[in-house]
Amino acid sequence: MTQTATPEPCASITVNGTARSVASGHSLIQALWKSGDPLFKRASCLEGVCGSCRIMVRYAGESEVQTALACQTPVETGMQVIFPQHLEAQSAALQTHRYQLQSSIPVDQQLRDVFPEAIDCRHCHGCTVACPKGIDVEKGITLANENRLVEAGDLFVNCVMCDLCVTSCPEDIVPNYVVLFARRSVAFNKPLPANLADRLQTLQRGELKIKY
Ligand code: SF4
Ligand code: SF4
Repeated sequence: MTQTATPEPCASITVNGTARSVASGHSLIQALWKSGDPLFKRASCLEGVCGSCRIMVRYAGESEVQTALACQTPVETGMQVIFPQHLEAQSAALQTHRYQLQSSIPVDQQLRDVFPEAIDCRHCHGCTVACPKGIDVEKGITLANENRLVEAGDLFVNCVMCDLCVTSCPEDIVPNYVVLFARRSVAFNKPLPANLADRLQTLQRGELKIKY
C-alpha cells in the first residue's frame, strides 16, 4: 500500500512586505529556512544567543509593533515581520568606539568622553521595551551614568548585542556599548583568574602547544 505524506500545516504571514506561506509549528527562522530561504549572514545559534535574527513584528489584529529574535518567535498566521537590514550596517558602525582602559583618565571621565550622549537619557523606556532578552536597559544606562559600573554590567549578563535597544533610542544612545564599556572596565581592573593568568604567561613564553 502506498503511503502519502501528510502535508505540513501552513501559516500565512508577511515578510518584508511580501505575502508568504510557511510551515507552522516552527520558529519563524526555521519556517523560512524550510521554505527555501537562504541562511543569512551571522544567524546561527537558533537559541537566542547570537542576536543576529532580530525582527520587528506585528501580530494579526494588533497595532503595536514589537521587537524580537526570529529564532525565538513561533510562526503565527497573520503576523507581519520585518528584518531590519539597515541594522547590519549600523552594527558595524557602532563598533568604532575607541578607548584605552589602561589610560590614566578616570573611568567615569572616559565614559563621558566616549559616550557623551548617555547623560541625555530621557527615561522613555524605549530601550527596555525593545529588548528581546528582558533586560532593564534604561536602568543600565542610569547606573552607568551614576558610575555604578558593576551593577550596570550585572544587569546586562544576558545581552546578545542585537542592537534593538539602539534602534529605539531617540537620543542616539547605544546602551549595549555603554554597558559593554562598563563591563570591560570592571574586568580590566580586577585580577585575572589564576588559570587564565597561567595560560597567558605560557603563551607569552612561546610554550603553548597547539594540537591540530
Ligand atoms: S540590551 Fe540591547 S543589544 Fe542587548 S539584548 Fe537587549 S536589546 Fe539587544
Ligand atoms: S531609549 Fe534612550 S533615551 Fe530612552 S530610556 Fe533608553 S537610553 Fe534612555
